[in-house]
Amino acid sequence: MKKGLLIVVSGPSGCGKGTVLGAVKDKLELCYSVSATTRDIRDGETDGVNYHYMKKEQFEQLIAEGKILEYTTYCGNYYGTLREEVESRRNAGQNVLLEIEVIGASNVKRLCPDAVLIFIAPPSISELERRLRKRGTETEDVIAERISQAEREIHCAKDYDYIIVNAALEKAVQDISAVIIAEKISAKNKEQIISEVLNP
Ligand code: 5GP
Repeated sequence: MKKGLLIVVSGPSGCGKGTVLGAVKDKLELCYSVSATTRDIRDGETDGVNYHYMKKEQFEQLIAEGKILEYTTYCGNYYGTLREEVESRRNAGQNVLLEIEVIGASNVKRLCPDAVLIFIAPPSISELERRLRKRGTETEDVIAERISQAEREIHCAKDYDYIIVNAALEKAVQDISAVIIAEKISAKNKEQIISEVLNP
């Protein structure tokens, strides 16, 4: 069975990652790994779909049991990738998409060197601030914290395999589609591709 790709996407809160990924997910046959988090559920989100929401104690129990592949704290809450979500799907040949922050992404790259890292950047910090305010889900304090976090994250984009600037949705969707299609036929996977040609 051909192992699925592991695509890791990061970008500051409000950069439009969700919208870009929503547009490519079905078209490119990607399945989301649903993370665990201790942050509060937002309006419009569903438990088990956006995240597995849980108490701090439950999250720490999963860490102790080795069920979390990587985790970090972000704006005072735990966020983590469940090992099972990634490994079972990749082994079943599915392409798995992780939408995680920069520390988690560099940990994934260390643990899974074949992961493909894509950073989605806003066109500017002022545009990011405008988008966060428009979303209207966060308080002023949280917005300020997310902006300074965004600046720190954008510096890390240099460690990613690809950087996509989301100035216009359609172009960002085109760019990310191009990256994923190229990775599917990349020479990095040549042994797998060659053996499929020789032994269909
Ligand atoms: P939000 O609260 O806006 O949903 O997410 C905050 C940040 O946590 C985002 O940058 C998001 O990509 C990141 N994040 C979500 N799930 C995970 C995870 O499982 N691991 C890590 N390291 N970061 C995550």
